[in-house]
Amino acid sequence: MLEYRSTRFRLTAWGFVMLSATLAVMGVSGWFAMRVSLYRAIDEDLENRLLDVEKFLRSQTDLSLDGVRKELGIRSSLGMGTSFYMVFDDLGNELYRSPQVGEYNLNVPPENPTDRIHFLKEGSYVANQNSLIHSLRTASKRIDIRGTGIVIEVVEPLNGVDLALLYFERILLIGVPLLLGLGTLGAFWITRRALAPVDRITRDARSITASNLSGRLAVPVAVDELRRLSETLNQMLDRIETSFKSIRQFTADASHELRAPMTLIHAAADFSLRRDRSREDLRDAMERILRESERTSSLVDDLLFIARSDSDPAAFERNPIDLAPLLADVTIQARTLAESKHIEVISQIPSQCIWMEGDALSIRRLVMTLIDNAVKYTPESGQIFIDLHADDGLAVIKIRDTGMGIAPEDMPRVFDRFWRADKVRSRDEGGTGLGLSIAKGIAERHQGTISVESQLGRESTFTVRLPLLLGGSFSDHRSQTAAT
Ligand code: ADP
Repeated sequence: MLEYRSTRFRLTAWGFVMLSATLAVMGVSGWFAMRVSLYRAIDEDLENRLLDVEKFLRSQTDLSLDGVRKELGIRSSLGMGTSFYMVFDDLGNELYRSPQVGEYNLNVPPENPTDRIHFLKEGSYVANQNSLIHSLRTASKRIDIRGTGIVIEVVEPLNGVDLALLYFERILLIGVPLLLGLGTLGAFWITRRALAPVDRITRDARSITASNLSGRLAVPVAVDELRRLSETLNQMLDRIETSFKSIRQFTADASHELRAPMTLIHAAADFSLRRDRSREDLRDAMERILRESERTSSLVDDLLFIARSDSDPAAFERNPIDLAPLLADVTIQARTLAESKHIEVISQIPSQCIWMEGDALSIRRLVMTLIDNAVKYTPESGQIFIDLHADDGLAVIKIRDTGMGIAPEDMPRVFDRFWRADKVRSRDEGGTGLGLSIAKGIAERHQGTISVESQLGRESTFTVRLPLLLGGSFSDHRSQTAAT
């Protein structure tokens, strides 16, 4: 909830920042654009008026102080020309000042007049209606009329501009916070709406617990990111539920498997202690206890191995392993195992090194499990073939036996934990039902595969494929093709 709120808050804050920046840029640039265009209009007007006075002066013959003053006065009284202007001679003496100029507080005469129009913002005056102090805009120019230098200065009060800008500022002052407030509320509302489905997903997800793993999140109708999120989370829940089920199943199976030897041990001990037993009976009971405790400890070993592998599948050694000597060594062990059942072990191991990368002990365990099974499930005087070769970047280990085989319908289950075609037989042979699932896990951790082909009552072949170590050498090493 906290994160969700903060996301909403952050999105709204971003909206606020973006809107403030946009309004600030728009407001400031609008204000400047308005000011520039107002000044341009005033300057155009001032220029026209100045040219008007210039034209009038150029048409005069008497350019003496009195002459100019008189003519301009007459012109003004006739209501011609513009009212706000002054005329000076070259020395700065004022020749004429239109009556209205009197109200203005002007620096007279203009400094350094030239024959180009010079615009200036200066002076000040207090307008009657609002008693605000306004600036004045002046345009001045020096003209030469038949050798006489005359300076004209036209004046325009900036009260119109000032007021227009003032109104604009007021509009900005009220409008910007208003828009900002509305925009922020809008952003808050939009993010709230947009994040509402996330809220729903969070609520649904919270309601799913370990005891209620079959629950799923509601999938939004709209095909969007949130729908994808819900679907992905639901798929994840499917996977979690499946692994939860298999963990529960595994725990139940493991407890069941452990209970059997414990019951037998208990029964044997109980039998021995209930009354006096003969030496043979006690020996028998002790042998049973020993057998069952060996079975229990091998089951616990297997369970521990599985638990370790499951908790950290990546944690195993990665060393270069030459499979050829490893298989040769395993073959010797196989012969010892097979000896009592008069089973022939035939191995085909190449003379080159066959390098792979991994944990030698695990690989040895994998191969020994297959050989152990081959011996267990092959009747007396059968045969076991051990074959190793490299093929298309893979080391291929094949363990074939001429044993009881596996029924086609059982084939998909042979690698399942605790699965056994014949529980009693497997138990009698000391099996835990975990060997092949452990072997499969080892092969997969080494990026390899394990598969089985079988004909019921005739033979079984287990094939392990493991990636060869890149750059591993295949130097001539030994020659080991043997049969016993
Ligand atoms: P177990 O400890 O029972 O041998 P495994 O996981 O090693 O457990 O094997 C599972 C089951 O697969 C065995 O109980 C047996 O029924 C069958 N199986 C394994 N290897 C062979 C084989 N070489 N020939 C016939 N059946 C086999």
